[in-house]
Amino acid sequence: ANSNLFAALRAAFPADLDAIAIETDSGLDYSWRDLDRATAMLANLLQSLEIPAGSRVAAHTEKSVEALMLYLATLRAGLVYLPLNTAYQAAELDYFLGNAEPAVVVCAGKNFPWISQLAFQKGVAHVFTLNDDRTGTLLDRAAHFPDTHEIAPKAAGDLAAILYTSGTTGRSKGAMLSHGNLLSNAQVLKDFWDWREGDVLIHALPIFHVHGLFVASHGALLNGSKMLWLAKFDPKAVVERLPRATVFMGVPTLYVRLLQEAGLTREACAQMRLFISGSAPLLIETFRDWQARTGHTILERYGMSETIMLTSNPCRAADGEPEPRRLGGTVGPALPGVGVRVVDDQGAALPVDEIGNVQVRGPNVFGGYWRMPEKTAEEFTADGWFRTGDVGRFDAQGYLTIVGRSKDLIITGGYNVYPAEIEGWLNDMPGVAESAVVGVPHPDFGEGVIALIVPKAGAVLDADALVARLKAQIAGYKVPKRAFVVTELPRNAMGKVQKNLLRDAHRALFT
Ligand code: ATP
Ligand code: MG
Repeated sequence: ANSNLFAALRAAFPADLDAIAIETDSGLDYSWRDLDRATAMLANLLQSLEIPAGSRVAAHTEKSVEALMLYLATLRAGLVYLPLNTAYQAAELDYFLGNAEPAVVVCAGKNFPWISQLAFQKGVAHVFTLNDDRTGTLLDRAAHFPDTHEIAPKAAGDLAAILYTSGTTGRSKGAMLSHGNLLSNAQVLKDFWDWREGDVLIHALPIFHVHGLFVASHGALLNGSKMLWLAKFDPKAVVERLPRATVFMGVPTLYVRLLQEAGLTREACAQMRLFISGSAPLLIETFRDWQARTGHTILERYGMSETIMLTSNPCRAADGEPEPRRLGGTVGPALPGVGVRVVDDQGAALPVDEIGNVQVRGPNVFGGYWRMPEKTAEEFTADGWFRTGDVGRFDAQGYLTIVGRSKDLIITGGYNVYPAEIEGWLNDMPGVAESAVVGVPHPDFGEGVIALIVPKAGAVLDADALVARLKAQIAGYKVPKRAFVVTELPRNAMGKVQKNLLRDAHRALFT
């Protein structure tokens, strides 16, 4: 059998190909037949370029159904898809195009002048344009090709996509994901999240990242489910669509913004089955507010570019348990077939409740970093487990809690300080919107704990007073030695807090 991921997705199309597969916010509907025919035409175009197997097709395109079709067509043609964050500019693209050496680049028409020049310098043979309004040379060219196509045969281990990590801790690395990695994870999630007939997904995430491209799109496609497609996240548009949907996926900031909408009510969410959050930790306050407003418990899950999804709170109750999802703090048990372990720095397994390094293995775990053999070797243990770089602990029920990233762990005077714990205390204080706790060089303690605190709109905070309150609550070594009130935290293009920038900015504070 053909292990091409597209073959599995295509097989899941409903029998009625004229049913609507994707309903867009610009009023255009796409049937399953449209998806089939357009991906065939695009796949035929890609194959006509006669580029060798394994060639990368890089996409730096605004979110559109056609951009999703380009992804599906790349799979279909047996080539390797390489999505690029549209926020990336010349310096970043210089790195990505140089590192990935794609054979094809697809970009927005407005960026063609500079991207085509860069692509030319990097030896890219083909540059097409694709705009978010169905114009551009890619579709013009594809229009001349037949609308049937035999799906390229692929083995499960063949490369399907290279996904660059978000670059939260440093330079982005290209995670090499195979057809088997992607399909196995999609199948596990279909079952674990109980995808069922009649499910409708609101797709409001970007499609250059694991969450929107794989988890959301594969989820709906593999279930033959309709997507209500938003080219950009717009809280009002999401709220408007809730009564016709059953599943929504978002990163924490989307939930925070949705909570600011008056239309977010129990009634609006009456049809909803699942609200899923991930990519970064969700604040406990968001969980609580969401439950109060909608009656739904957000399901938090944990994953990364290198592994797709690893753990998830359950969506079905185990016997006798009324509410399977935990309200914040845990990302749930390991998904079926996925191995997750917590070990100390020597690699020895740690007992329940002890904090250590999270390592994983399974059919979903990537083959390595693109053109970084040393980095790949470093990040796998001798017995084949991938070091996630995250720190966490299991509870007695097998639920994992992520405490932070090992790079963000602070060691001060020989004691470990887990930033997430201190941030939790600070975030609970009145007037605090969010906070970031990092360690910077300190002559006496090795590292000194500092805190950056963002006030809620209209609140006036006194950093020293907050620190004084903290002193009464937690051990002295955990209390920040300095705290600053700031208007915002530095975030990368995925909205994640970049603690390395905070460390750099305050490097000389104690020295
Ligand atoms: P880079 O690897 O380039 O520094 P990144 O790790 O942010 O960037 P991604 O692969 O997009 O790139 O993100 C995966 C990381 O996101 C995980 O390793 C984890 O730290 C974090 N993460 C994902 N889901 C959750 C969650 N539910 N709770 C806490 N952290 C999460
Ligand atoms: Mg990472």
